This record gives sequence, structure tokens and C-alpha cells, in this order.
Amino acid sequence: MNTLEQIQNFKGKYPKQIWSLFFSEMWERFCFYGMRGMLVFFMIDQLNFEETAANLQYGATQAFVYAFTFVGGLFADKILGFRKSLFWGGILMIVGSLILATDPHQFFFLGIAFTVVGTGFFKPNISTMVGKLYKSDDSRRDAGFSLFYAGINLGALLGGYLCIAIGKGEMLSSVIAEGARWNVAFGLAAIVMVISLINFVFTQRSLGPIGLQPQMMRLDGTYYPIEKWKEYGVYILSLVFVPLIMVMVAKTEYTDYFMWTIGPLVLIYLFYEMSKVNAAERKKLWAALIFILFSILFWGIYEQSGGSLSIFAAKNLNKDLFGLDPNGVNNSAGAFFIIFLAPLIGLLWIWLSKRKIEPNTVIKFGLGFIFLGLGYYVLFATRLFADLQGVTSLNIFTIALLVITLGELCLSPIGLSIMTKLSTEKLQGMMMGLWFLASAYGQYVAGIIGANLATAKEGSTNYDALIAYTDGYKQLGIYAVIAGVLLILISPIVKKLMQDVK
Ligand code: GLU
Repeated sequence: MNTLEQIQNFKGKYPKQIWSLFFSEMWERFCFYGMRGMLVFFMIDQLNFEETAANLQYGATQAFVYAFTFVGGLFADKILGFRKSLFWGGILMIVGSLILATDPHQFFFLGIAFTVVGTGFFKPNISTMVGKLYKSDDSRRDAGFSLFYAGINLGALLGGYLCIAIGKGEMLSSVIAEGARWNVAFGLAAIVMVISLINFVFTQRSLGPIGLQPQMMRLDGTYYPIEKWKEYGVYILSLVFVPLIMVMVAKTEYTDYFMWTIGPLVLIYLFYEMSKVNAAERKKLWAALIFILFSILFWGIYEQSGGSLSIFAAKNLNKDLFGLDPNGVNNSAGAFFIIFLAPLIGLLWIWLSKRKIEPNTVIKFGLGFIFLGLGYYVLFATRLFADLQGVTSLNIFTIALLVITLGELCLSPIGLSIMTKLSTEKLQGMMMGLWFLASAYGQYVAGIIGANLATAKEGSTNYDALIAYTDGYKQLGIYAVIAGVLLILISPIVKKLMQDVK
């Protein structure tokens, strides 16, 4: 078995174990984004939901998915370890997609609830393991996370496109009977999740001690394994959550209560954990919390893509980009750009670091916001290219997505990386869960912002919609730039809290 020392002393740009995590995460994201991409459409088209109800329930599932990453991270730290968590999460995701594949009409919310809990156990813990491949002062870590992020988006692109295309009958319709299309589409999510787990099982040996179950310490300083009943207790508890989530997603006001309660509770718990560490560690956790809070704002603005931007794409965009469908472009252009840009930006960080001019994490975050703001400004500028019907250029819209994606790359992979650097050894999973919990709030906030932008009234024209949406995007752009400038201004304070971490 490799020792941690051997793994972390790797030569070259990336540790070789990163590929195992890359592929497992890629297939998991295929399953996740494949499913997510079908939800709203399936609810409206197949389950006859009203548009608003479908959007609200979609938002609720997304908020729960990311909220559960906190639970998954916490249990991984305390009881299961990262590997068992990942495996358990993967199994639940497979069960969820198999249920959907069997009868998506009848068991829709049951299947979704399994997937929500499963993702909570899988997603934060695989990201934490990437961090474990590096020594704490290794400057190649951000590059590793950028590569891993490319894997995430490769899965997102393939799953996001293929599943819905099969479900709608736009692909393989000659070989799949009409009545079986949705079953096959959900079944595909199950198959790729099996591939993800098989890949992990066969390659996990190379991870050496990384991700093994934590051990308990006796008073005399010796260790003993976690009791089995605790491990089984976690498995049973996670199954208990399944019906609860079904109820909460079905009645979205419960989601509001949940979101208003979970945040404060989690903060109280974090402060309790912070009271147990030393002063230097506590300062780092404060810095992590600042990044987490800013990321809520980032995702709140960014996540318009699933909501208001998809309505904007449907109403206000032409097909001047190779005749492509504007909604398809809106769904997948970000992932497409990331696949090419993430490794390049990763290498750029390494190149800058060799010359000792790599910006630190706070500045990268600040840049992330500034790019996000500029991207939204380009969205605003689409109105300058509109015709009298309020239809404007998909090309310009795609440029906006490119700029927004540059912002995402300065923040999202870097955020994963910094969580692994600022957390204490015992809080790694929980802090990663907290990072994703911020995404849960981002999704939630994004829904509220999107609903406020959708001012389309009875009798309003496409041109009115164009003006209303682009005004809103300009506002969001301004907020993003202000947040970026603020981050850069407070960077000396945050850097102090981070101490030796860059
Ligand atoms: N798109 C990224 C992923 O799926 C980011 C998720 C997030 O933090 O919201 O991993």
C-alpha cells in the first residue's frame, strides 16, 4: 500500500491518483446533471405540473441536494470516513435512478429523494479526497482542483445533454419505444453511476490511507475502531431522511422553513467546533467562513442559468450561433468552456506560482466576482443587438457565458481547494459540506432573484421582457463587481486570518 508520504511526494504536475477521483466524479456528475436536466421538463410534460410549481419543486430538490452535502461531510468526518461515505452515497444514487428507471411517473419523488441523500454522501467527500493528495504547502493543489473541475463538467456536459435528449425522443428514438424513453434516460443515469463506483472500487487501493474510517482515541492515547452500530446507525438514519425529503419537496413551504433553520443551526455547530480548536486553527476557520459567505452571493447570481436565463433563452434569443438551440447552449456552454479552460487555467496558476506572481485565493475570489459581474454586463448588452421583436444575438449571449465561466473558474475549484487547506484535519468533510451548503443557499437565493426578475405581465411583449431581464442582469452585474472589489479591499484582513495558507 502507498503511504501518504509517497502519494504526496509525486513528481510532475498532477498526482496519478487524481485520475481515479476524476473519473468517479465525472460519472457521478453525469448521473446528477443528467437527472437534474430532466426534472423540470419531466414534471411539466409528463406529470402535468404547472410551470411555477415545477420551478419551485426543482429549486427545493436543488437546495436539499446541497444541504445534504453538509450531513454527508459531517458523518464522513465522524464515523464513516470518506471512502465508505462515497460508496454509500453512490449506492443510494443507483437505487434512486433505478427506481426512476422502473416507473418514473409513479415513483418520481421517491427516486429523487434517494438521489438527494446519495449525492450528499458522495459529492463533498470525493472533493475532500482530492485535497488529501497534496501536502499542505504544495502550490500544485489549485491546479489539481482545476483538473478535477474539468472532470465534473465533462460529466455535466454529457449527462446534461444525453439524458434529456433520449427522454424527449430527440436521440435514439428509432431504437427505443416511445413508452420507454424516460425509463431508458433515467436508467442511463443508473448505469453511469455503477461505472463510477466500479472505477472507485478498483482504483481505491492506490489511495493508500486516504479516506479510511477515522479511529477513536482512548484516554491512554491508543486508537480503536469506530463501533459498528454507529456505522449502521448512519446508514439507517440516512434512509429515514428519504420519506422526509419526499414530503418537504412536495410542499415547498417546508423547504423555506428548512432553509431558515438549517443555516443558523449549522453556524452554531460550527462555532461549537471552533471553540475546541486552537487560536491559529480558529482563525483559518473564520477565513473559510468568509469565503463560504461570499460564495452564497456568487451562486445566487450565477445560478440564474437554470431559471431566468432559460426563460430568457427561450423568448429572446435567435439561433445565430451555428443554428444551435438557445436553451441547449444555455444549458451546456458553461460546461463546454470549462472542459477546455479549466486545465489551461490550472497550468496558468502553476506558471504564475513558479514566477512567484500567482494571485492568492482572496484575489482569485475577487477576480471571480469581477468576471461574473462583467459577464452579466455582457448579458445586459445583448439588448443593444435586439430587433424590434426583442430577439437578440445568441452569439453575444454565449460570450457572456464565457466571461461568467472564467469567473466560475476563479472561484469554484479554488473554493474546493481552499476548504481543504483551511480546515483542521478532523473537520475536513464538514467544511467541504459547508462549502456546498453555501451552494444550497445560492440555489435558493437564485430562485428568489429569478422570480423577481420574471415581471412578465399579461399582455407584455417580448421586447418588454428583454428590457426587464437585461435591467435585472445589469443590477446583478453591479452587485457582483462591488462584491469583488470589497473582497480585494478586505484581502489583507482575510490573508492575516489565513496565516501560512495562500
Ligand atoms: N458545478 C459544480 C459542481 O457541480 C459546482 C457546484 C457548486 O458548488 O454549486 O460540482
